[in-house]
Amino acid sequence: MPDSSPGAGSAGPQNLRDLPGAERAPLILEALKSAYEDPKIALDFTTPLECVIATVLSAQSTDAKINEVTKTLFVKYRRPEDYLAVPETELQDDLRPTGFFNQKTKSVRGLSQKLIDDYDGQVPSTIAELITLPGVARKTANIVQANCFPETLKADPDAGVAVDTHVGRVAVRLGLTRHGSKEADKIERDLMALYPKEEWPRVPNLYIMHGRMTCDAKRPRCEDCVVEPLCPSSQEAGLVDLFRVPPKRKTARKKTAKKATRKKSTSKKTAARKKTTAKRTGRRRTGSE
Ligand code: SF4
Repeated sequence: MPDSSPGAGSAGPQNLRDLPGAERAPLILEALKSAYEDPKIALDFTTPLECVIATVLSAQSTDAKINEVTKTLFVKYRRPEDYLAVPETELQDDLRPTGFFNQKTKSVRGLSQKLIDDYDGQVPSTIAELITLPGVARKTANIVQANCFPETLKADPDAGVAVDTHVGRVAVRLGLTRHGSKEADKIERDLMALYPKEEWPRVPNLYIMHGRMTCDAKRPRCEDCVVEPLCPSSQEAGLVDLFRVPPKRKTARKKTAKKATRKKSTSKKTAARKKTTAKRTGRRRTGSE
């Protein structure tokens, strides 16, 4: 179980933030639930196809921009066949405002073709099937399943927790993972171990909301934060922001430690060599006398 909270494993926690991650995680979730009443995904969609397209388009863009684009996009394109019926350049023009439109056009057309070829034009419901769609990795698959197929999620052995940039950052700051905020797959596994499966669809929505409203990337508002007493990165308590501690520093520290060990063993070897030489020289001198 990941736990980077200070004092984890020590005899007696002095306060809530010293508790192990496994004990803080449910308290954090309850506090977030009370602060943000049943938050929903910010993307607009009415069908699984719209959900998967909107989520694919949301990469490197804002939800507001995607909602603006999909408002007309989803009127023009209703079925997977529709995305293939127009020239590629026309779809590129329609997706241009979302950014990275060339790659997104390829993904949208690729996943449309795959849906037609392998899934009778319907969006599949399991994670194993969803990740076969071009442009769909675990984050998107988790979002689509949690929002469109909650019943499948309950029985799916591959189900998980969607980890985006906000979820990653908040989990790192709260000390619920030892991994860097960009290591989405590892953070996902850590959160899955900390929360029961029935909470998995809710966790990302609450963490995203908290990341947007309070735990801002540049300026977290710790003074107004409902989970401040549980947070090992609290600026209010004068603690180090774990999100700002670059994973490289850990590597650098390791390297320095290794270098020091190597230096130590080299100087030991040198001393031993000097001792042997001195002995030999002494013997030779004694012999010649
Ligand atoms: S106390 Fe600060 S760093 Fe911790 S979760 Fe709240 S806003 Fe983020």
